[in-house]
Amino acid sequence: MAIDIERIKANLNRLDPTQKTGGGNSNNNIWKPDAGEGSNTYNVRFVPYKFDEGNPFREFYWHYNIAGKNFLCPKYHGEGSCPVCDFASTVWKEFTETGNESYKEMFKKLMPKLRAYAPVIVRGEENKGVRVWAISEGAYKQVMKTVVSCDEEGIDIIDPKDGLDFKVTAISKKVKKPYGAIEVEAMRKTSPMLEDMSSLSSVLENCPNIDDEFSPLPIEDVKKALDEYANRFENEPSSDVGTTRNVSDEKSPSTPKTETSSNDLQKELDDIFSGAGDLPFE
Ligand SMILES: [Zn+2]
Repeated sequence: MAIDIERIKANLNRLDPTQKTGGGNSNNNIWKPDAGEGSNTYNVRFVPYKFDEGNPFREFYWHYNIAGKNFLCPKYHGEGSCPVCDFASTVWKEFTETGNESYKEMFKKLMPKLRAYAPVIVRGEENKGVRVWAISEGAYKQVMKTVVSCDEEGIDIIDPKDGLDFKVTAISKKVKKPYGAIEVEAMRKTSPMLEDMSSLSSVLENCPNIDDEFSPLPIEDVKKALDEYANRFENEPSSDVGTTRNVSDEKSPSTPKTETSSNDLQKELDDIFSGAGDLPFE
């Protein structure tokens, strides 16, 4: 049941901007800390994930608000390629060739965004059983760094007897502009996962399967959303960037040009998402 620290470290490395690497449903199982008007603090406990005991963190890549739709990126989830990502590559190429900042803004909007999902017990709401915390990228990095440093001290955060609760503070965008923030901190003292440890196995057994929480949007609908997005963009008088119609039918470059300049861009994306409580596009 111990956490697989190597996989956590691998995840962390992959999300490090200095390391070069390469259909939404809502559900009651999903939990997000609510900042309210100001800020709120919650105590949560990561629990062993019965479908993958060594790694409770599941990563999903989303396209947000493409013609009003949020959906999983088909490149990461199912199809192996994605018309939105391909189009983003074309847009990035336009930016590098023209220097027009609007293309860069469009590219940032088009790029898939990471959300991690992990099984937790929310303190004070134990009766609701194991929930799935939808963790923004900034908070996810904080969590993984904490997991690694705890491991160095010999603490396995998901240990049912001697693991650690986390203090999660959600700060509203009214307080912390422009997107709000999530701050994550491990408790100093280890604690048992449940007051009544005799119910542990039944609690863990009722953990939702995170992979079942979301299903991909059919690829035709992804293409439709992209076409609609591109057409809208074309027709917006305030925009000085034109795009061609039926972009999803265009041939896209086989190697994404984004890779060559992805480091600078990753830094910018990181600025947007570091500590962001809610993604700006949700
Ligand atoms: Zn994509």
